[in-house]
Amino acid sequence: MVEVGSRSILARSDFATFLDALQRGGYQIVGPTVRDGAIVYGPIRSETDLPIGWTDRQEGGTYRLERRPDAALFGYNVGPHSWKKYLFPPRERLFTADRDGSSFRVSAEPIDDRPTAYLGVRACELAAIRIQDRVFTGGPVVDPGYAGRRRNVLLIAVQCGQAAATCFCVSMGTGPAAHEGFDLGLTELLERGRHEFVIEAGTSRGAEVLAGVPLRAASREDVTAAEQLVERTARSMGRTMDTAGIRELLRDNLEHPRWDDVAKRCLSCTNCTMVCPTCFCSTTEEVPDLDATRVERWRRWDSCFNLAFSELHGKSVRASGRSRYRQWMTHKLGTWHDQFGSSGCVGCGRCITWCPVGIDLTEEVAAIRRSPAPAAKGVAP
Ligand code: SF4
Ligand code: SF4
Repeated sequence: MVEVGSRSILARSDFATFLDALQRGGYQIVGPTVRDGAIVYGPIRSETDLPIGWTDRQEGGTYRLERRPDAALFGYNVGPHSWKKYLFPPRERLFTADRDGSSFRVSAEPIDDRPTAYLGVRACELAAIRIQDRVFTGGPVVDPGYAGRRRNVLLIAVQCGQAAATCFCVSMGTGPAAHEGFDLGLTELLERGRHEFVIEAGTSRGAEVLAGVPLRAASREDVTAAEQLVERTARSMGRTMDTAGIRELLRDNLEHPRWDDVAKRCLSCTNCTMVCPTCFCSTTEEVPDLDATRVERWRRWDSCFNLAFSELHGKSVRASGRSRYRQWMTHKLGTWHDQFGSSGCVGCGRCITWCPVGIDLTEEVAAIRRSPAPAAKGVAP
């Protein structure tokens, strides 16, 4: 039996056996796969579903898939999907009410809590899951769907062997090394003809999966090679963000002219909130059938960039693009600390890559920091 905390070597040729062990252990596997010109998360039935030999090139408003010179399984950076699409689905039926005489019978939606292995979770994504855990299960009201799904998730982390031009997890203290919060941790070693994985058992559940998988104990050199890979990644971050006093900086600059500047560029398309692994805003809608015998309540992702999102008594509270962008960024980087005790940003860079006009929150923060305005008394809408 593999011990928790121990590190072993998994040969590339035994990776399929590792996937088999997960399936034999009762886990359905979801992980990275190539679809529609991007690396997105989907079902993994065999290793050929993985993005073997693919990587991505990212910049503000740009994402391109490219071939790698090798056959890496995890040689890419985070794409447009995050694990929240499984834990907090974009659209979800919450309950159904059926007419029953003069009343209604309400049936809660069954929760799909099948054991699921998330394969390829990056350090920033582990941090994002921890944040969403607090949002959905850390308060007095627990979201039953999220909690049910989350209970049976096996997290298989993959250490980042490269950083995208849009990554800044080092600034946010969330990566690129995954130190905790995973059941199994993989580091892909691909150098000088070598193709192996250092695999670390983070929990007893993870260790159980490894029973029957051909492994050898990792040597000191193997562990050093794995650590050096992640250190190189940390030194190659594409972006940085100075987070010192950021909560106060944003609070004191609610009337900074930069909000007008960004509003001229922002399309209020909501992309940044959809791709963000921590954004959790949603709306609900009732969907009745035509003969009024049944109604369903659905929840779907919403965004603070939508005009209707802040509508109160028939009028939007945040009527301008300026106020909506400001709300998003000041919440994410500032007031999130008051609400949840941490930043709402894990530095994954998705909102930069997938913003159609390349708005970059690291640059917006830097611009405000370069010329902070005197503290204002009121806040213009
Ligand atoms: S705000 Fe942007 S960089 Fe930060 S976690 Fe969300 S998508 Fe990633
Ligand atoms: S910042 Fe970019 S991604 Fe976000 S709403 Fe504006 S245009 Fe869309």
